[in-house]
Amino acid sequence: MTIKALLNPRSVAVLGASERASVGRGMVEALERIGFAGAVYPINPKYASVAGRNCYAGFRELPEPPDVVSFCIRSDGIIENLRAAAEHGARAAVIYDGGFAEIGHEGEAMQREIGGICRDAGMSLCGPNCMGVLNPPAHSTTFKQEVRNPDALIGNIALISQSGSVAASLLADLRRFGFSLVVSSGNEAVNDTASYIDFAVADPNTKVIATFTESVRNPDRYIAALDRAAANGKPVIVLKVGRSARVRAAITGHTGGLAGESRVFSEILKAHRAIEVEDLDELTEVLAACQGTRWPTGNGINVVTTSGGQAELILDVATSAGIPLRPLPAETREAVERDVGRVTGDGNPLDAWGRGDFRTATPEALRLLSENPATDAIVFCSSDSVDNQALGRAGREEDYAKLFAVAAAKSSKPHYFMSMRPGVLHSGQIHILAEAGVAVIGGTRQGLGAIERLARWNTPLAPVRASNAAPSPALATDRATINEFDAKKILSGYGLPVTRETFVTSADAAVAAANAIGYPVVLKVVADDIPHKSEHGLVAVGLRDEQALTAAFGDMQRRVAALGIPIAGYLVQEMVTDGVEVFAGVSRDPHFGLTIAFGMGGVGVEVLRDFALRPVPLREGDAEAMIEETRGAALLGAFRGRPAADKATLAQCLYALSDFAAVNSDRIEEIDLNPITARAKGCVIVDALIVPRRS
Ligand code: ADP
Ligand code: MG
Repeated sequence: MTIKALLNPRSVAVLGASERASVGRGMVEALERIGFAGAVYPINPKYASVAGRNCYAGFRELPEPPDVVSFCIRSDGIIENLRAAAEHGARAAVIYDGGFAEIGHEGEAMQREIGGICRDAGMSLCGPNCMGVLNPPAHSTTFKQEVRNPDALIGNIALISQSGSVAASLLADLRRFGFSLVVSSGNEAVNDTASYIDFAVADPNTKVIATFTESVRNPDRYIAALDRAAANGKPVIVLKVGRSARVRAAITGHTGGLAGESRVFSEILKAHRAIEVEDLDELTEVLAACQGTRWPTGNGINVVTTSGGQAELILDVATSAGIPLRPLPAETREAVERDVGRVTGDGNPLDAWGRGDFRTATPEALRLLSENPATDAIVFCSSDSVDNQALGRAGREEDYAKLFAVAAAKSSKPHYFMSMRPGVLHSGQIHILAEAGVAVIGGTRQGLGAIERLARWNTPLAPVRASNAAPSPALATDRATINEFDAKKILSGYGLPVTRETFVTSADAAVAAANAIGYPVVLKVVADDIPHKSEHGLVAVGLRDEQALTAAFGDMQRRVAALGIPIAGYLVQEMVTDGVEVFAGVSRDPHFGLTIAFGMGGVGVEVLRDFALRPVPLREGDAEAMIEETRGAALLGAFRGRPAADKATLAQCLYALSDFAAVNSDRIEEIDLNPITARAKGCVIVDALIVPRRS
């Protein structure tokens, strides 16, 4: 495996090394400074030595094939030199320069050529358009930055970033964590984020994997890498750009549809146990939270403060961020009131300044929380402090940290020391707490959010549903769409509830059907080529009697004739008069396959875009959660005399839809059940449309 030659090389050739100040010169010096123990081969025909090392005229002159070649040259010389490197047995390369796929067609062709050369030679490649690789524990670098303090870099995080600047930003603040590996992967012409995740999963120095991603190269490999990381107990924290349409347009040149690409990606991450974050602050705090020796196993977070105002602010911020801070149970509350002092509010956050000496009150409060079985994590927020504080007693910051470190040592639960503002940190405190295995987090929203995310990661996912249903032969068709009548027949075969209805081709047959079903009825046109019937006035609801039905039939015949679109016939259908209209559907993401959506009918999905999404197949519990997730779900509750909708049956309907989609996944492009009527008891599919996938 040549990826090892790229990420943990035994020798580095620096192409374009020179005596004058340059990237190549900097690379030779960086290797020196980081303490690289392997061979360094500067290559440049113009020099006999560079920075005191023997310099070689070309790859041919090297004493051995190098593990990795650092291409410190401009893009126009790269192809020729990459060929030479491959010919002389180089195992890997790093190409920093840009001017490839990111600039359009011409660059793309060059990038393909580079990829081809590497693949043919079995070489690994970082880049192009990147900053390279840093392996602090191995003391190796091909990273395009000077090395100043190599020891400070070492830690347990593997960072894989498509952007070099984002990597550099995370590398700038090493107060709370360091890195086991840093890869600035750039355009990923050969090796991609998934391959680096795989390496990090197997790397004993890596405990946590952080990624900054613009686009996923190979979705299947990516998902497999996430699954391997989860199975090996290493969280993958993902910061992906492209949540806004303008950013997506900038990255890929196209925007998402209803199941907007970034929402699909978020759900894929959840389903494969990756932790998604929205910005660098959140990413940083999750990485900081991971530095604690104990990790939370549930989201019962209890916060202890040293002031009432602080407690109120933290509760407000946590609540609006959706982070649950559950009130103290009565028993703990009584014990706190007895031994510590009066509890204001509901005790979470708990102002533990106490009646007398905070040095005895706070530890006692921490002990009582630790004994509360509902507490999964204890967070201590004293007063924010920085190095070289101008005010306050000297040594005070260290005292707080020591007090908390002692409390943590006496407990089995994870403890976090938190500042209210992100980035406001005190090095002395961090040092004391790190020795005690306690993580220091910053910012109420980001810090508490990090604990909550880590707790969620630590909770096993429910199993994916397995179905033993057989694929439907009716989907093996070249019909562009399958009309309502046929779609419902297929779906009811999989246990999905549909309206009572009869297919007819004459007014007389319609009347006979209506008599059998019972008035009022609905009359609709049945035609593959008219997927949206009401757009053409081809749905007539609330037909009370024979007269209304025959009139509607005549009217519809005239409309059909005027449209000039061939139809199969007509549908006489029971009229559903009670319940709430909801929507369920399946659609195909070009990268991640089928997803299932649920939302409220009508404007809910189309205008408000209020829908829940999951990959197919669903996991147990997903359907119930999807129903609760939508804002419109409130409409399913009892309201002004109307009974509550039967959510349990609705959930079963979503599971059945998922099972159907899963067993027929190769044959489905899209399914629309719009509306489904959710009733007080049961639910019924009122309209259905299937778009088969053409093989
Ligand atoms: P379209 O092809 O235009 O989506 P639908 O079959 O969904 O046609 O009918 C349009 C609307 O008419 C539905 O959204 C629903 O509100 C109403 N409707 C259709 N069929 C029935 C029915 N059987 N009972 C009650 N309302 C119905
Ligand atoms: Mg419809």
